Amino acid sequence: MIKYCLKCNDCSLEFESWFSSSKEFDRLKKLKYLNCQNCNSIKIEKSLMSPNLKNTKKKLIDQNGQKFKEVKNKLRNYQKFVKENFEFVGDNFAYEARSIHYNKKNEKKGIYGKASPQEVKELNNEGIETALIPWIKDKEN
Ligand SMILES: [Zn+2]
Repeated sequence: MIKYCLKCNDCSLEFESWFSSSKEFDRLKKLKYLNCQNCNSIKIEKSLMSPNLKNTKKKLIDQNGQKFKEVKNKLRNYQKFVKENFEFVGDNFAYEARSIHYNKKNEKKGIYGKASPQEVKELNNEGIETALIPWIKDKEN
């Protein structure tokens, strides 16, 4: 079943009606079985999409939102792990990464911080492993 919002072209009355299919609407219209409840005009047009279709669309958006939330939660857990196990070095990431890499006396500890794409490229060229993770702010939901 499909619900259509119908509009009378003569008196502009809008009303809803159920049809077994969109073909049925066309068939009834052709046979002049569709008429306005107000003025009996047969100049009836579909005016809006069926509300059912709107609901389907909304459901899809909800599902996408749900997926987005799951990904965010995973990222958040990952961030938590990084924060608890690695040392934050802020903007000094490239410098700290190099000093760990080249100064073998240092204990090999993990660090995290900010680096520009150029810095990351240079570090990789020097054989220093980095991992890029998308960072989300704590306050974001
Ligand atoms: Zn009418």
